[in-house]
Amino acid sequence: MSVTSLEQLEKRLRLTKEELSWKEGPLSVPLCITEHYLGLINPNDPADPLRRQVVPTCHENMSDDSESPDPLEEVCHSQGERLIHRYRSRVAFLATDICPMYCRHCFRRRFTGNMMGPASENDIQNVASYLRDNPYISEMLLTGGDPLTLSDAELDHMIGIFRKASPHLIIRICTRYPVSQPERITEALVAMFKRHSSAPFYLMTQFNHPRELTPESIRAVSLFVDAGIPAMNQSVLLKGVNDDADTLEELCNGLLFNRIKPYYLFQGDMVSGTSYFRVSLKKGMEIEQELRRRLSGLAMPVYTADLPDGGGKVPLCGSYIVKSPDKEKGSWLFRTPDGETRVITDPQS
Ligand code: SF4
Repeated sequence: MSVTSLEQLEKRLRLTKEELSWKEGPLSVPLCITEHYLGLINPNDPADPLRRQVVPTCHENMSDDSESPDPLEEVCHSQGERLIHRYRSRVAFLATDICPMYCRHCFRRRFTGNMMGPASENDIQNVASYLRDNPYISEMLLTGGDPLTLSDAELDHMIGIFRKASPHLIIRICTRYPVSQPERITEALVAMFKRHSSAPFYLMTQFNHPRELTPESIRAVSLFVDAGIPAMNQSVLLKGVNDDADTLEELCNGLLFNRIKPYYLFQGDMVSGTSYFRVSLKKGMEIEQELRRRLSGLAMPVYTADLPDGGGKVPLCGSYIVKSPDKEKGSWLFRTPDGETRVITDPQS
């Protein structure tokens, strides 16, 4: 049973004044914490990084002019309510707005947790015809909400329709279930995906802290990886959760060891009600530089910002070019991650 109210939560954790004064409002997602995740929280630490991700506070009822409910302009890049088409070759399908547990930093809170439920048959058929009409779409993010809140049978039906419309469509399964409720991931679920293998699936997870990498979570991801479905992780850089190089180093190495590629480290979007999680770009880039010194290329995620007004994703890292040559042929001066300099002399092109 998940905890869904402050009254229930008070019986499990001693709530702070800020947590007790949370009221569900237009800027917030519902309160829902799974038993698995609650069991990972240290009840004696009000600043526990896992608690911070799921226990609401009054801070999320605040917003300023620099924030917006939809800073990435997903709505104006949408075909209908549930299909976002922002980049030419890929779409994101919001299969449901429901999640097994709600993250306080959720960037899609304009949609998530509105209790609309799964996409209708009509929505699914409309997406299928959109895929047929736009054959250059090669990838779909199956997202939400959390698409794995749908039953195996519902997912089987939906994916069958998408595969029929576009047999070579690569599908990214975007889910936080391995973190929030790993027992949802079963052999039967993975076997269902494998039955639709005319094109690859990728599992996209969101581990934000090394303590989320439990034996149960690792087992859940392994079921996918063992079945030939690669796992990639997208963390969010969150103040008070993982905004230091030591925590992220441990997380990225732990992910890699468990066959989950650290893919993105996202700068928090300018979403209304999430400012208390946001890390400054300056600090984020300092952490990125430190991680670059410590991690292997495989373990290193790309620190990335999704630019406002639908500007798209850009990597955030300091420049390693100190001086480029004046002419086409010449010497380039670089800074190494350790702060030394090196020269590459360009061959004649
Ligand atoms: S699982 Fe994803 S969609 Fe659901 S609340 Fe967390 S961040 Fe938002």
